[in-house]
Amino acid sequence: MTSIDKDFIFIPMEIIKGISASPGIYIGKVFLYYEENLNIPKYEITAKDVKNEHSRFLEAIEKARNELEAIKEKAYLQMGDKELLMLDSHILMLSDPDFINQVSSALEKQLRNVEWVLFEAIEALIEKLKSSRNSYLQDRESDLKDVSKRVLNNLMFTERITLSELDSPYIIAAHDLLPSDAITMDKKNIKGIILDAGGRTSHTAIIARSFEIPAVVGLSTITRKVRTGVDVIVDGDSGIVVVDPDDAAILLYADKLERKVETTRQLRPYVKKEAVTDDGQKIIMKANIELPEEIESVIDHGADGIGLFRSEFLLLQSELHTSEDKQCEIYKSLLDKMEGRPVTIRTLDIGGDKILPGYDEHHEKNPLLGWRGIRFCLSNNNAFKIQLRALFRASVHGDLRIMFPMISCIEEMDEVLEIIDKVKQELRNEKIDFKDNVPIGVMIEVPAAVLAAEFLAKKVNFFSIGTNDLIQYTIAIDRGNEKIAYLYQPYHPAVIRLIKMTVDAGKKAGIPVSLCGEVGGDPVATIVLLGLGLEELSMSPASIPIVKKVIRNVEIKEAKKMIETILEMGSGTEINSYLENWFNGRFSGLK
Ligand code: PEP
Ligand code: MG
Repeated sequence: MTSIDKDFIFIPMEIIKGISASPGIYIGKVFLYYEENLNIPKYEITAKDVKNEHSRFLEAIEKARNELEAIKEKAYLQMGDKELLMLDSHILMLSDPDFINQVSSALEKQLRNVEWVLFEAIEALIEKLKSSRNSYLQDRESDLKDVSKRVLNNLMFTERITLSELDSPYIIAAHDLLPSDAITMDKKNIKGIILDAGGRTSHTAIIARSFEIPAVVGLSTITRKVRTGVDVIVDGDSGIVVVDPDDAAILLYADKLERKVETTRQLRPYVKKEAVTDDGQKIIMKANIELPEEIESVIDHGADGIGLFRSEFLLLQSELHTSEDKQCEIYKSLLDKMEGRPVTIRTLDIGGDKILPGYDEHHEKNPLLGWRGIRFCLSNNNAFKIQLRALFRASVHGDLRIMFPMISCIEEMDEVLEIIDKVKQELRNEKIDFKDNVPIGVMIEVPAAVLAAEFLAKKVNFFSIGTNDLIQYTIAIDRGNEKIAYLYQPYHPAVIRLIKMTVDAGKKAGIPVSLCGEVGGDPVATIVLLGLGLEELSMSPASIPIVKKVIRNVEIKEAKKMIETILEMGSGTEINSYLENWFNGRFSGLK
């Protein structure tokens, strides 16, 4: 990750450093977004901050009261008694000293920001109202919600709107975005994303990369520092946000943008070139996608195929998990558009931060260690079988491969294979055409799967290493948690060894091993992956040209030598700086 440009140090404005989540630069206006309870910022404050939080709260209340008075005055003549009574009751709620005191003392006790304290206080009151037998009190729930929303909007300077309906270009600022928000957002008008939360491999970051929207995440308190309409520079390359930039900063970035356009232009010829190392090793370059509409970008960036189609986003977006025919149609169209090139579809990887509609009531204490991926599918046979039937039916239309996420033991794979046999038998009985020999693969993304790789290799036709989760589960860090993002080290010696063990196990068993985690698209990591023996990589389509350039300018011999050196190093930081130095010396200005 690059540090702040030297030129910046003298510019007197707020420059905030976060985590670079999706490359690109955009200069524009912010839209501060929050979705009901989900994006209420939550952070710790110190005793010193309490007074300030308290004043913010009183100001937001005062503003809400004025807004309501203004509505009353303006619409007095058109309103009936009921509406006037409702407005009066809302104004009264905002003046209730008990409520104001409750929030004030919670601020002192909890030492959390006022948005969160208010949100919790309202939730507690709503629970109380709900359990009341008095129907008048029960009916006050919506009033309470309405009033609190007004105050929260004032605190966070937001307006309610969904991300699919923006009317002009904006940079979205939010505490966090759910993958389902990100997937349905208006790609035309969302030009940048800046978030308090998140890490480089959180799913929202991955989606931003897929849609080529510059994003900086893990900014902690950006939602406190900006509001709708404020100018901001999002520098997704360096993980920097410049709030309220002055002319000098804008000029500087305009220049950076120009250079970027030039680099992209220089990389363009690589789209058509083969990824062959200087000493003749061909590397298969595939693309990761989340939605079928990305297929144009896959072809445009010169991919040899699709190495990872994260099917859960499609199914999350349109609730297609119940429709075999519609799924089959979409898989068929992917295969048609890829014109014979391989298409690897990963079955539903639900759970963690990706919740299927209808399953969100199952709150888990540790969702990332819980009912996720294949575990979810094996206990929801219906959705799983529908997807498998759709996949096998589509298989006759091209080179389909199916792979399974989060496999942690042989028993799971055996169960999957049994279900596949059953699905095939059903299709045979129904005289429906399908390919009997669709390659079946397993994602290697849990350390246990690496350690049991020699056994898993006997059950499947290929491995695909999911480094995003492999790193998460090896180092025991939530990949979307900005507080521990510094521990997320792709070059941790343990991770390097686990990748090596997987590649070696695959080679020994004679099955291909590819890598589809985000590391695959990082040009600095390319030399490591080649040295570890990977011959197939899958990445965001936009990363393909730059990774091809690196591949075409290095030799396997050299990569293997570097791995020998790296394997001697005991720390991820040391390996990282060794690689950054090497890359900057060899490919100066490329990244
Ligand atoms: C991975 O874990 O590396 C992977 C490719 O899958 P996802 O990012 O969807 O979890
Ligand atoms: Mg994964």
